[in-house]
Amino acid sequence: MNIVILGPQGSGKGTQAKLIAQKFSLDHFDMGKALRQVALLDTPLGREVHEIIMVKKELVPSRLLREVLHIRLNDLGREQGIIFDGVPRNVEQAVYFEEALQEFGRKIDRVIFVDISKEESLKRIGKRFSCEDCKEAVILKEGEAEACAKCGGKLSQRADDTKEGIEKRLGIFREETVPVIEYFEKKNLVSKINGAQSVEEVFGDILKVL
Ligand code: AMP
Repeated sequence: MNIVILGPQGSGKGTQAKLIAQKFSLDHFDMGKALRQVALLDTPLGREVHEIIMVKKELVPSRLLREVLHIRLNDLGREQGIIFDGVPRNVEQAVYFEEALQEFGRKIDRVIFVDISKEESLKRIGKRFSCEDCKEAVILKEGEAEACAKCGGKLSQRADDTKEGIEKRLGIFREETVPVIEYFEKKNLVSKINGAQSVEEVFGDILKVL
């Protein structure tokens, strides 16, 4: 099974992707996470990716997606299902992505679109933290302690989660990724899920369509 999960920043798609991966034993391909790891490297590629995702706050060029995607598809056996989290993000990537999958004997079985409003996105991301130790992602509620509930580790915000950064990434989602959803809708592959519910409710709705 090959699933694509898309949604604006703060929609909870990363959390849902993890749950789906666990439930169906899928490999979790998180492009944003892979790129943030590359951005930490003190190499020409690391510096290039850092400049794009942390300073310019733009999408990285498609050639980087191609490289990372090819490495992952090469490494995994065909029988291993994958959940693609945050990929593809524009129509050019969508066309390439389908070709690459086909080349590796795969096809997209379903595209999950976790939908929330811009207001909800901004509200949630302002409170989005992750644990420096176990990497668990949390949306802090009013008055909650700033330590990880799971392991007690220190919580910190993502460096690209500034107000300006979020506004810019939401704009890119609207202009570049919404057309990807429309592209897959024409192929009857999209299930739209209401992301403005609890994690369990969103997951329950996703299970109904998988
Ligand atoms: P995310 O963790 O999904 O918010 O992604 C973090 C950043 O990585 C994005 O703001 C982009 O700069 C970059 N990125 C993630 N996925 C892609 C992609 N499919 N194509 C281009 N850039 C991406």
